[in-house]
Amino acid sequence: LDVLNYFETKCTASKEITDRAKTRIPGGVQHNLAFNYPFPLAIEKAEGAYLTDRDGNTYIDFLQAGGPTLLGSNYAPVNEKVAEVITRSGPVTGLFHEYELKLAEIIHTYMPHIEMYRSLGSGTEAVMAAVRGARAFTGKNVVIKVGGAYHGWSDTMVYGLRVPGTYRMNAKGIPFGATNSTREAFPHDLRLLKRKLIENRARGGTAAVIVEPVGPESGTRPVPKDYNAKVRELCDEFGALLIFDEVVTGFRLGMGGASGYFGVTPDLTVLGKAVSGGYPMAGGVGGRADVMAVFGSGLDGKNGSHVQVGGTLSANPLSCAAGYFAIEEMARTNAPVKAGRAGDRLTRGLQRLIGDFGLPYVAYNQGSIVHLEVSGVMLLDMRHPVKLLKENKPRKRLMEQMSAAYAAHGIITLAGSRMYTSMADTDEVIDDALGRFEQVFS
Ligand code: PLP
Repeated sequence: LDVLNYFETKCTASKEITDRAKTRIPGGVQHNLAFNYPFPLAIEKAEGAYLTDRDGNTYIDFLQAGGPTLLGSNYAPVNEKVAEVITRSGPVTGLFHEYELKLAEIIHTYMPHIEMYRSLGSGTEAVMAAVRGARAFTGKNVVIKVGGAYHGWSDTMVYGLRVPGTYRMNAKGIPFGATNSTREAFPHDLRLLKRKLIENRARGGTAAVIVEPVGPESGTRPVPKDYNAKVRELCDEFGALLIFDEVVTGFRLGMGGASGYFGVTPDLTVLGKAVSGGYPMAGGVGGRADVMAVFGSGLDGKNGSHVQVGGTLSANPLSCAAGYFAIEEMARTNAPVKAGRAGDRLTRGLQRLIGDFGLPYVAYNQGSIVHLEVSGVMLLDMRHPVKLLKENKPRKRLMEQMSAAYAAHGIITLAGSRMYTSMADTDEVIDDALGRFEQVFS
């Protein structure tokens, strides 16, 4: 009741705006991360670690737009440099711009295995390009993903095992047969992955295995430390490319991303989110020069190997310059390490509170990606999806309620169960947040 009372009395402007939105925007919100219960908050201002809504309420922002703003929201030093670029060229020209190259160069500096890079419009598009490129390069058809992993919302990648708490986007509107060439392995089950690779070998082979290197759904189900190295070995054994989807982990787990963190080199890497520092059109695919050559436009005389990717606004000066300046700034300020330390401090504090209150919750993190699970369902054996499914509904409901309770105490999370920390999360911010969590738990 206290929580609902907060929304009724302190968020009247948000309510009025989001009520109006119901008539013009399907479902009343545009963004899948918008916080929905009991109604979305309309945000007016974002700065560093904080968000302010239309009613003037301030929140500690652990959503960080779903991950891109590792430097903190609305980071002025990058904004100023981006503003200079747009003042000169505007946000788009459709022609070549030096920042396209500068972005590819700076990515290569910190992720040397990304020998070439193609900027695209989003993580979803970049995944589409990566799997298409892998098919073209290998001449094979099947791509294996890990159940419950989220690789964006394209037709071939929505295929999803029903893993609770993870995106199951094999929803309506997917054309029949779209996922015929996508296979799924259960998380962490390397024997099953091998079996799928063997099965596919008899039917023409596997073009690629695509993983979120921290585990499905941004590490909600973390992988053992040697998991990626073993997937690498399997890919080599079966002649499949290894694709790392680093949309979340790229720069967040360190300037070398998950590849540097786990010491495993993929053939192709998908980047998004932090790669344009929170500016729009964040996404691209990069990797081995021989594989990336399939995306050549034909100017190099190898027209036959051309794989179609692109888009009117892809590689625009705005997102490329923003990415370049943000990466430069992340390296200069050591942002991934600072954000990671904040994630560690938040996780340790949550674990202490969970223990103090004797709650059946669990908190864990991969650096600046923090998970706060309110249901033991996450700890169950992944090989029993039906049992997991049955327990999923109450978990979702509880996550929704907890998410509202956190917001009413001044903390925005991703769906009540995930938090991204940024460089702006000083010890004071984290300790303030822990005090608020303590109030919610009590
Ligand atoms: N891959 C992963 C691992 C993601 O987390 C996401 C988005 O959350 C995507 C791909 C899709 O990226 P975008 O939302 O930019 O299309």
